[in-house]
Order: sequence, then C-alpha cells, then structure tokens
Amino acid sequence: MSDGRFSGRAAIVTGGARGIGAATAERLAREGASVLLVDRDEAVSDRARALDCHPLRIDVAETGAGERIVEEALRNFGRLDILVNNAGISGSRPLRDCDDELLDLIIGTNLTAVLRVTRAALPHLPRPGGRIINVASVFGLAGYPGSTPYAVAKAGVAQLTRQLAADLAPEGIAVNGVAPGLIETAMTADRLHNDRYYQRAMLEPTPMRRAGRPEEVAAVIAFLASSDASFVTGEVVAVDGGWLSGRHPPRDPS
Ligand code: NAD
Repeated sequence: MSDGRFSGRAAIVTGGARGIGAATAERLAREGASVLLVDRDEAVSDRARALDCHPLRIDVAETGAGERIVEEALRNFGRLDILVNNAGISGSRPLRDCDDELLDLIIGTNLTAVLRVTRAALPHLPRPGGRIINVASVFGLAGYPGSTPYAVAKAGVAQLTRQLAADLAPEGIAVNGVAPGLIETAMTADRLHNDRYYQRAMLEPTPMRRAGRPEEVAAVIAFLASSDASFVTGEVVAVDGGWLSGRHPPRDPS
C-alpha cells in the first residue's frame, strides 16, 4: 500500500467507469486508498485495472445492490472508510415528457440508490472517521428549466447530505457533498458542443467561462474525504466555476 492521505483506508466509488467517478477513484487510489470501483458498464473492469482498483459491475439501482457493494468492499479490503455516491444519469427532460417508468429510473438511480447504498454502508463505517461524499448538482440547488425530475432527485441528495450529517456527527461520521456545475464528461459533451441553449445557459454565464474537468471535482471530493476537512459536515460544495453564485453573460468588449 502506498503512502498518502488515504493510506490504509478503503473506499467505494459508484459510477466509477468514467467521468467524475473515475477521476475520483484515481485520486483516492493515487493517495493510498484501496478502492472498489462500481459501475453497471462493462468498461468498469478495464478502468479498475488501469487505476489499480477492484471492480464490481452492478446497477446501483437494483434491489439489494447496496448490500452487495458493501459486502464486496469488506470481503476485499476488510474495512470501509469512505463512500462516494457518484453514479447518476442525466435527466434533461421536462416533467411532462416523463412517463412513470422514466420518472422511476431518474429518481431511482439518482436518489433512491444513494439512500440504499448509504444505508448498507452505515453499520460498517468507522466511528470516528467515516466519510460519505454525495455527488449532487447545481441543478439541485437552483432552478433550471427542462430537468425537473433530475433536479428534484439532486435536491434530495443535497438534503440527504444535511440530514445524515446531523444524524451522524455525534458518532464521528462526516457527510458532505459536491454540486458540480458544467463539467465536460460523456454526460454533457454532446450538449456542450451541439446544444445552443445549453451553451447559453451553462457555459456562457459561468464566470470562469469554461467547463470544468472531472479532476477538478475529484480534488474537492478528496479534500472532503480527508482529515483536512475534519470540521466540515453537512456541506454541499459547488464546483462550478462560479455559476451558482454569479451567473452572468460576458460583458461587451467596449
Ligand atoms: P458520466 O455519464 O460520464 O458517468 C457516470 C457513470 O455512472 C457512468 O460510468 C455510468 O455507467 C455510471 N452509472 C450510471 N447509472 C448507473 C447505475 N444505475 N449503476 C451503476 N453505475 C451507473 O457522468 P459524470 O458527468 O461523470 O457524472 C457523475 C455524477 O456527477 C452524476 O451523479 C451526475 O449527475 C453528476 N453531475 C455531473 C455534472 C456534469 O456536468 N458532468 C454536473 C452535475 C452533476
């Protein structure tokens, strides 16, 4: 096991085959953690091999997935210190275009699965020292047109973070979240390059005038998982180039 902030610690990262989850697993592993990389995509095996993590191919929204994921971490590492609930699907559909099946899929993947995996992990996290980090979204903190079910699920993730933080602080477990803004991943690449409304609403009003990189979210997650964040709990940190705090169009050059 290598030296680093997470030496001797074990982590689960869901949705780790690519994007923000893969960058997070890479960062945690590079800093010494043993990481269970969880994803429903078959690419999880190759990604885990490349990052020196242990893979588990599973759909986090399946019944019983939380228990299977936690068992796999305990069987491989003998402990579980850090849970990163990152798996999610984009749901850029207005409510009126979502039938029951799609609503269940969006809420089930982005919110219910987070509750279930977290519930399964709770008995095993060290007290003190356990860490839970949830990946929410700026869409769960501010209104944005055309994504109501997704935004409601992500608002639930943010509130889950605050609720659980209050429940678990006396036991020494910290629960925090990140709210990414526009991050260039497979989830957003098409809209970022081809959807003029998305460019106008997300990219242009971002004060930093660029999309973020998965590694920039991973760095904040790693901070929240580390002892550097020893007095931080119940916080949802926006990683959004300023979008949430000051959306505005570029000024005219004149
Ligand atoms: P991504 O699509 O690149 O990666 C998501 C990963 O999660 C994929 O590997 C996918 O296979 C996996 N996944 C999805 N559903 C799953 C399921 N049911 N079971 C297991 N694995 C599953 O997306 P990303 O941009 O890296 O997003 C990661 C998280 O960040 C998501 O929760 C997303 O909602 C959130 N987020 C992303 C952005 C952004 O701009 N990219 C902004 C805000 C929030």
